[in-house]
Amino acid sequence: MKKDIHPNYFQTVIRCACGNEIQTGSTKKDIRVEICSKCHPFFTGKQKLVDTGGRIERFMKKYEQYQKNQEKSRENG
Ligand SMILES: [Zn+2]
Repeated sequence: MKKDIHPNYFQTVIRCACGNEIQTGSTKKDIRVEICSKCHPFFTGKQKLVDTGGRIERFMKKYEQYQKNQEKSRENG
């Protein structure tokens, strides 16, 4: 059997900018990320610098519209 056919697979620690560390396996030894499941705005509810393709912006616009509609219906009702 030949060795080294597969890339080396390390036990790796992913270090996030928030200080969280995630143990995983990877072909890379050191992985640094700026966002993880612990500090992702999706999980924390905090607004952060990440905006995947303007999704948040679009949501905010929709939400704004929703609030305006609510105000309108309150005025009319
Ligand atoms: Zn993090």
